[in-house]
Amino acid sequence: MLTLEEALRRLLARAQVTGDEEVPLAAASGRVLAEPRVIAPVDVPPFANSAMDGFALRATDTPGTLRIVGEVAAGSAGLIEVSGGTAVRIMTGAPLPPGADTVVPLEEAGESEAKVTVPLTAPETYVRAAGSDTPAGTEVCLPGVLGPAAVAVLASLGCDPVRVRRRPRVALLSTGDELVDPGLSLRRGQIYDSNTAALTAAITEAGGEPQRMGRVPDTREAVENALRAGAGSHLIVTSGGVSVGQHDHVRGVLEGSGSLDFWRIAVQPGKPLAVGEIAGVTVIGLPGNPVSALVTFELFVRPMIRAMLGLSGDGRLHLQARPQELIRKDRERRAFLRVYVWREAAETLARSTGGQGSAQLRPLAEANALLVVPEGEEAADPARTYEAIILGELS
Ligand code: AMP
Ligand code: MG
Repeated sequence: MLTLEEALRRLLARAQVTGDEEVPLAAASGRVLAEPRVIAPVDVPPFANSAMDGFALRATDTPGTLRIVGEVAAGSAGLIEVSGGTAVRIMTGAPLPPGADTVVPLEEAGESEAKVTVPLTAPETYVRAAGSDTPAGTEVCLPGVLGPAAVAVLASLGCDPVRVRRRPRVALLSTGDELVDPGLSLRRGQIYDSNTAALTAAITEAGGEPQRMGRVPDTREAVENALRAGAGSHLIVTSGGVSVGQHDHVRGVLEGSGSLDFWRIAVQPGKPLAVGEIAGVTVIGLPGNPVSALVTFELFVRPMIRAMLGLSGDGRLHLQARPQELIRKDRERRAFLRVYVWREAAETLARSTGGQGSAQLRPLAEANALLVVPEGEEAADPARTYEAIILGELS
């Protein structure tokens, strides 16, 4: 059995960054810039403007009582000249009129008839100078998945459309004669296919574009045909049929018609993971048990999709957490226990969300983290802390 590190190193060595495409800025959230460094083409803000509603005037006229000669609102060109002894009413975001060098906010101004009395005010008070946030020519670096603030920066620079990495197309195939689509009724011996739904969601969350190849029966021929059909994608992910059973064909097809790079990893759940290729496309064969499938997706497929986007790591928050109880595991393998973590005082605590079996999906859905307990240990020990991979919301 390979260690997680060795298996991941071998898998990621296969990753090739996908090409780029142009998308409207409105569709850029969740994407990754093809070139994370953007040279600001304009000053932000583009002109000196007021940070407050108030009066634009000359600092040398303060303190004093000044004549109000006009008004500039946000969006106006703001060309009314401020000369000695005068003030212009100004709104937040309006351009500072020529001749003015400072702003007195309404709260500090005493207005009566067409005059305003203002206190002593330094130059540049409540003035946002042109380029005071980002001067034109600045190298703005927006690495990683674009979130709301990053798309706001792009918008403020006037960038639309933007060049982003193409989403890796991930062909998804479920194997198993027992599987039925949700929504239909089950006959004896059948179960609902949960991996297709789970892995479709996980591929999307990781930044990939899922391409459902459907489900194939447990025959070697069907598995082989389906894998070949997936070879137009950037990556093929299968679930089930990678273990040692008579009806497990994924590994055999890789060995016979493509190549098998490695099989079996010392992780719990998820030991029978297989990686290889067919027609030049990397195939990751995930175990069929639903928890194993999603946990190994997290450990292998997610970093692989990110590597194809030019990103490193798993993009998750990792914290140290202390289990509140003893949680048993297999001594030989590194366990990724399904836990709920929360902060209490200065600590992050963890509790098991239920059965830790690889077919027990509900505890995975109730977990917000995986607690990583190393090889060589028989249980998560409440006297210690362990790395927790945060998957969900933290309260
Ligand atoms: P396998 O790896 O094909 O031997 O499958 C291991 C276990 O996972 C069996 O109990 C399967 O019924 C179950 N399983 C396989 N694929 C799926 C799936 N797509 N959805 C739900 N359970 C599955
Ligand atoms: Mg099967």
